[in-house]
Amino acid sequence: SGKVQFFVGGNWKCNGTKESISKLVSDLNSATLEPDVDVVVAPPFVYIDQVKNSLTDRIEIAAQNSWIGKGGAFTGEISVEQLKDIGCKWVVLGHSERRHVIGEDDVHPHLQFIGKKAAYALSQGLGVIACIGELLKEREEGKTNDVCFRQMKAFADAVPSWDNVVIAYEPVWAIGTGKVATPQQAQDVHVAVRDWLKKNVSTEVASKTRIIYGGSVNGSNCAELAKQEDIDGFLVGGASLKGPEFATIINSVT
Ligand code: PEP
Repeated sequence: SGKVQFFVGGNWKCNGTKESISKLVSDLNSATLEPDVDVVVAPPFVYIDQVKNSLTDRIEIAAQNSWIGKGGAFTGEISVEQLKDIGCKWVVLGHSERRHVIGEDDVHPHLQFIGKKAAYALSQGLGVIACIGELLKEREEGKTNDVCFRQMKAFADAVPSWDNVVIAYEPVWAIGTGKVATPQQAQDVHVAVRDWLKKNVSTEVASKTRIIYGGSVNGSNCAELAKQEDIDGFLVGGASLKGPEFATIINSVT
């Protein structure tokens, strides 16, 4: 890390109540954060408005999902226009829980949900946190790069520009498991993804696009990870629910 601005996102997933979120927001508002870091939090949809109205402007807000196009007769979905209306600047797309628990897809010819969502969000001016990452079985079979490249291609085929995209490499076996990737394991995939961008998009996009790591990052392991040349920040789940620990992770910028 070092060439581009460090980026740290907090993915609150499907957690929290009005009360616990009010406490988290007040802890974040009183934390001292390094200035040269982009900081984003992704609350559950129903609390975005509460967070927007109480959280410091220093921290931007992401949604955890968005619909593939303009709103309308899509029961249960949330549109990009609505997210912008309540002050979101970002959306997390392709998260492993949506891919593997909910079954969201990037390859089915009639769906390609993840790429479509990314293209639509970008077209409306939202930034996209584009998540990729392999399952444990895929890693054990030596398919880590193949899987990440396939997921990268689904984004690349859909998006007109990478200007507003942050890539989150999140090995599925490391998410919510307490089993963090070693700094070298993460660095190796980040380099491979950057090379993929160089070959398949451009040298400029490869050098400018932030590739952040996610998967059991916490206040104790963030410093070693942040030292890696190609780790440009973090996407944090569990540890982002604790304000002081999340601040430690933000401040691990090197
Ligand atoms: C995530 O949800 O993106 C994540 C990385 O979760 P955790 O930090 O809890 O592993």
